[in-house]
Amino acid sequence: MKAGPANIKRILVTGGAGFLGSHLCDRLVASGHDVICVDNFFTSQKRNVAHLLGRPNFELIRHDVTHQIYLEVDEVYNLACPAAPGHYQYNPIKTMKTSVLGAINVLGMAKRCRAKVLQASTSEVYGDPEVHPQPETYRGAVNPIGPRACYDEGKRAAETLFFDYHRQNRVNIRVARIFNTYGPRMHPFDGRVVSNFIRQALAGTDLTIFGDGSQTRSFCYVDDLIDGLMKLMDGPDEFIGPVNIGNPHEFTVLQLAEEVRRLTESSSQIVHKPLPADDPRQRCPDITLAAARLDWKPTVELRQGLERTIAWFRAIDINDYRAPTPNY
Ligand code: NAD
Ligand code: UDP
Repeated sequence: MKAGPANIKRILVTGGAGFLGSHLCDRLVASGHDVICVDNFFTSQKRNVAHLLGRPNFELIRHDVTHQIYLEVDEVYNLACPAAPGHYQYNPIKTMKTSVLGAINVLGMAKRCRAKVLQASTSEVYGDPEVHPQPETYRGAVNPIGPRACYDEGKRAAETLFFDYHRQNRVNIRVARIFNTYGPRMHPFDGRVVSNFIRQALAGTDLTIFGDGSQTRSFCYVDDLIDGLMKLMDGPDEFIGPVNIGNPHEFTVLQLAEEVRRLTESSSQIVHKPLPADDPRQRCPDITLAAARLDWKPTVELRQGLERTIAWFRAIDINDYRAPTPNY
C-alpha cells in the first residue's frame, strides 16, 4: 500500500545496497517512504540500487556502521553485516565490530531520535542445533571460539544490545531471526550454496557439495522474507520478537543440487569437498510464532523461487561482479 502524505516515514536501511537490503529499499521506495540507504559496499555494489538513484525519495550514503552516524529518521532496518561464511570469515574481527558497534550506533541513534529499529538477526544464533525445528525459545548451541563465532556470537551480542536498549532506554525494537534466504541479487561469488550451485550449473562446472550433502537447510525466497520483515516492523509495539522468519520446507544440500541441475538442464557433475568446521547439520525454522503474531507465512515454493533466481543469473554479466574476498 502506498503511504499518503500523512504517513510517509523517513526510513534508514543499513546494508541497503546488499542482497536483502536492496529488495527492502525497492519495497519502501515503492510505498512512497523517504528512504536512506547506508552501505560501505564491502559485499555489494551500487548496481543493486542504481535504479533507485534518480528517485526523489531515495538517498545513498557510503558509510561504515562501525562509526557513528547522525540522521533524523523514524525507522531503522539494521541489515549491515557480511552474511555469507566466506565473507564474514574473511576479516572476523571486523565482522564482530560490524555486529556489535553497528548495533550500538543504530540503537544510540534510535534512542536519540526515538526511532523504531529492527535488527536482522539470524538462525545462526541457534548454532548447530540439538532441537529441530528451531523455536525462538531454543537457546542454541554455538561454538564461541570456532570460525563461525565472529558472526554467530556477534549477532547474539547484537540481540543482547537490542533487548538491553529496550529495557534500559525504552527503545522501540524488533528482532527478526532470518533463515537462509535466496533470490535475485545474491552476490554470484558469495560462496553460499544457492548462488554457488546456480553459477556452477550455468557455467557447466562441477557442483561442489560440502560433505555428503545430507545436511539440511530451509530456503526462503527473498520476497517472502521482505514481507515478513515489514510486517514485523509495522506490527504492534507489544510484539518485538525475536521471531523466526524463514521457510519451513527442509531440503538436503544434495536435493538442492539435483533440483538446480534439473532446472538449469545442466550437465554439471556433482563433486564432494570437505565439510567446513562447525557447519550446522540441520536447520529448519519453527514459524508458529510468526504465523500467529504477524499472520505471516512464506508463499513461494523452492522450485518457483529457483526459477526466478536462475533467470536473474542468466541475465547478468558475471564479469561485472568481483569476488569481495578470496574465500569462495
Ligand atoms: P549482503 O552481504 O548482500 O548484505 C550486507 C550489506 O551490508 C552489504 O551491502 C555490505 O556491503 C553491507 N555492510 C557490511 N558491513 C558493513 C559495514 N561495516 N558498514 C556498512 N555496511 C556494511 O547480505 P544479505 O544476505 O543481504 O544480509 C543482510 C542482513 O541479513 C545481514 O545482517 C545478515 O546477517 C542477515 N541475514 C541474512 C540471511 C540470508 O540468508 N541472506 C540469513 C540470516 C541473516
Ligand atoms: N555448501 C555446499 N556447497 C557449496 C556451498 C555451501 O555444499 O558450494 C553447503 C554448506 O556446507 C552448508 C550449506 O551448503 O552445509 C549451506 O551453506 P551456505 O553457506 O549457503 O549457508 P549456511 O551454512 O550459512 O546456512
